[in-house]
Amino acid sequence: MRRLSAVWVGEMHVKPGNGRRETGNVRRTQLPLALSDYPPIRPSALPILDERLRGTKFVTLECRSVLNPPSRTGMEFWSLNPYVGCEFGCTYCYARYAHRYVVERAHDQGRLTDAELVDFRGAHGWEAFERRVFVKQRLLAALDADLRRYLRSAGPSDRPTAPIVIGTATDPYQPAERRFRITRRVLERLARCDGLNVGIITKSPLVSRDVDVLRRLQTRNDLEVHVSLITVDVPLIRTMEARSPMPAVRLRALTKLTDAGVNAGLIIAPVLPGITDDVPHLEALFQAARQAGARFVHAGPLRLYAGVRDRFLPVIEEHFPRLAERYRRAYARHATAPRDYARALSRRIKRLQARYGFSVNDGMVDRYTSRLPVLQGELGL
Ligand code: SF4
Repeated sequence: MRRLSAVWVGEMHVKPGNGRRETGNVRRTQLPLALSDYPPIRPSALPILDERLRGTKFVTLECRSVLNPPSRTGMEFWSLNPYVGCEFGCTYCYARYAHRYVVERAHDQGRLTDAELVDFRGAHGWEAFERRVFVKQRLLAALDADLRRYLRSAGPSDRPTAPIVIGTATDPYQPAERRFRITRRVLERLARCDGLNVGIITKSPLVSRDVDVLRRLQTRNDLEVHVSLITVDVPLIRTMEARSPMPAVRLRALTKLTDAGVNAGLIIAPVLPGITDDVPHLEALFQAARQAGARFVHAGPLRLYAGVRDRFLPVIEEHFPRLAERYRRAYARHATAPRDYARALSRRIKRLQARYGFSVNDGMVDRYTSRLPVLQGELGL
């Protein structure tokens, strides 16, 4: 029997079957009365916490550290991601590499068999990111230790100013959060601090569930909640993002946050060259942001890392064949957008920020600057 086809209930490892109870989309397995009915099973190194009817599994991931320092990520901020993998399944998502890394490391450490490695990668190497979601365990203990390290890094007398960004590699309010509530517990812990600089990035309306803790957090800390939306065009959203919430739902959540006084705004990322970067497209987003009471609008162009190409480029070939060759050429040597394109887009965003009454900046680039090198190349707007 494959270890990961069974379900864990507390410390007991039982086969799905008798006693199965269905709650909404999530299948739970109750502990049967007589465990002796079942043969002994080797404990899994990666126990399954829950499972959806369509096959998505939520898997335990023990962690000793959750706050990633800039020295580890190459970004100029600390990052925190309660989950690895994301059911929203955006075709352009660059976080697939992080899932692959966790899976391969678990295999190297003997916690995944060869057969499980195949299951946790998916047929093409990218599907499992959406269907095998790791849920970090003992996260608060790790966060406490990391916060001490973070505060030490700021020096004995200075206030820590390096931002902590939640949701850089997976959505902290993806569907799993409704059940596991890890992001909420992280925010409750951060709300007990003073002088932090916290950013949250999400596509999910679930963020508005935590409006109480967000308000508490921002009384003594800087907070920016970035609601992420690449377009208000519903068919285009479904082409690019397999299971993400609809634009209207996200904008309603943004309105709820801003109505409650939370410092929230819109992030348009990634802007897709030749698809969502035209002025009418961007104007529709700026208008929607204005109506939702957004405090800011940030934007950034597509990055196309090696691990994402196999997922994203076939979508471009199928739906935007006239652009396929241009994408391949523009991102042939580097993952970030060509420098000329990024500059032109930045100018366009700044003009729109000014026109719609938002503060004019380079968006995420200002606060959360990447140290990754900028690129050469051509991709006309
Ligand atoms: S919501 Fe964010 S983390 Fe999730 S798949 Fe989309 S881009 Fe990736």
